[in-house]
Amino acid sequence: MTLRAKACALMLLLCVGSLFSWAQSSSMKTEMPDVIKVPDAAQPSAHFDAVAATDAYLAEIPATARERSDAYFEGGYWLILWDFLYGAVVCLLLLNLRWSAKMRDLAERVTRFKPLQTIGYWTQYLVLTTILGFPLAVYEGFSREHKYGLATQTFGPWMVDQGKALLVNLVLGALLAVLLFGVVRKVPRSWWIWGAAVMTAFTIFVALIVPVFIVPVFNKVTKLDDPKVTPILALARANGIPAHDVYEIDASKQTTRMSANVSGFGKTMRITMNDNLLRRGSPEEIQSVMGHEMGHYVLNHVYLGLMFIFIVIVAAFAFLKWALGWSLARWGEKWQIRGIGDTAILPLVVLAVSILGFVLTPVINTFTRAQEHEADMYGLNASRMPDGFAQAAIHLGEYRKMSPGPIEEFIFYDHPSGRNRIYDAMRWKAENLALIQAKPRTDLEPTGAK
Ligand SMILES: [Zn+2]
Repeated sequence: MTLRAKACALMLLLCVGSLFSWAQSSSMKTEMPDVIKVPDAAQPSAHFDAVAATDAYLAEIPATARERSDAYFEGGYWLILWDFLYGAVVCLLLLNLRWSAKMRDLAERVTRFKPLQTIGYWTQYLVLTTILGFPLAVYEGFSREHKYGLATQTFGPWMVDQGKALLVNLVLGALLAVLLFGVVRKVPRSWWIWGAAVMTAFTIFVALIVPVFIVPVFNKVTKLDDPKVTPILALARANGIPAHDVYEIDASKQTTRMSANVSGFGKTMRITMNDNLLRRGSPEEIQSVMGHEMGHYVLNHVYLGLMFIFIVIVAAFAFLKWALGWSLARWGEKWQIRGIGDTAILPLVVLAVSILGFVLTPVINTFTRAQEHEADMYGLNASRMPDGFAQAAIHLGEYRKMSPGPIEEFIFYDHPSGRNRIYDAMRWKAENLALIQAKPRTDLEPTGAK
C-alpha cells in the first residue's frame, strides 16, 4: 500500500467506527423540559427572591438531562484543544514533508498566470486538508451530535452538506487567497496593513452575502408568517424593525437545537428564527427570544462586532508579519518556501493564525458574551417576558452547560451561562412585579413599579 492508500484505509476505518458508535447511542436524548407552569418560588409574591426563583427553575431540569448537556459542552472544551493540535500537526506535515511546496510546483506547471496559480494551489490545499481532517470532522459534526441526540441527518445528507460547504469554501477562499497574495506581491513592505484592509472588506462582503446567498445553499429560508408569531412582528415594529426583516429557517433539517440570530449587513440585515424554536417554544419564550435578537439589531451589534473584528484583524496581520518573517528565516529553505508572496506559505499562515486564535479564545468569547448580555437586557425590557426567557435559557441548555464556574464561563462561554441568564430574568422580574401581575398588588405599587 502507498502512504496515500494507507491513509485512506485508516480514515475509512475511523469513519466506520464512528458510524457504529453513532448507531449504538442514537437513542440518547438531551431534551430539556418544557416548564409548563412557572415554579412556585418564581411566582410573583411580596417576598419574591431572584436567587430562589433561579434555583427553582434550575431544579426543573432532570439530573440526567443536565449531566448529558454538561458532558456535551465540556467535551467542546477539549475539542478546541484537539482541533487546534490536529490542525497544527497537519500544517507541520504539509511544510516538513514539502507537500506544500510540491502543490505550488504543480500549480506553476499548469499555468503561468499568477492568480490562477494561487487558485490551483488553494484547490489542492483545501481538498488535501479536508481529506486529512475528515475523521475529526465526522466525529465532531456527525457522530458526536447524534450521540447527544442533537442531529437529525443521516450520513448521506450530512455528506451532501459537507460537499456544499467545501464548494463554498473553494470559491470564497480562492477569492480571498487571490486578493491577499496579490496585495503581498504588489506591496511587499507594507503588505500587512493593506492585507488587514482587504481582509476587513472581505469580512464585510461575506457578512453581506451570507443570509442571501450562502444560507439558502443549505436551508430553506422563508418570510415569517406563522400565526403564532403575530405578537413578535408587533414587537419588531414597536422597536423600529421592519416586519419584512424577520425570517424563518428550516434548521430541523440538520439539528434539534432551538436558536435564532441576526445576520447580514446593511440592506441584507435580518432576524432569523429557526423552526425548532417556533415549534417547541411557548409564545412567551418566542417573544423573549425575539426581544433578545431585536437587541442585537437595535444596538448595532453587527457593526460593533465588525469594528472589534477589524481590531483583531490588524493585530493578527501585525503578528503574521513578525511570525512569518521569523519562521522563514529559520526553516524557509528547508520547507522550500521562497518568501511571503509564495503560495506554499499557506500552511504556515494557517498555523500562525490558529495559534493566535487559540490564545485569543477567551478575549473573543468575552467580547461576544458582553454583547449577548446587552441583548438579554434589551430583550427583557422589550418583551417583558422574564419567565419566557428563563424557559428559553433552559431549552438552550440542551447544548450548553447551565451552571459553570466563573473562570470556566470567562474562558469558554460566548453567551452568558443559562444560570446567569435565568438570574438576570428573575432579577428583572423582582423589580417589575407590578408589570407582571394581572392586578398590581397594592403593597407593591409604591416601590415595585420603578
Ligand atoms: Zn444573541
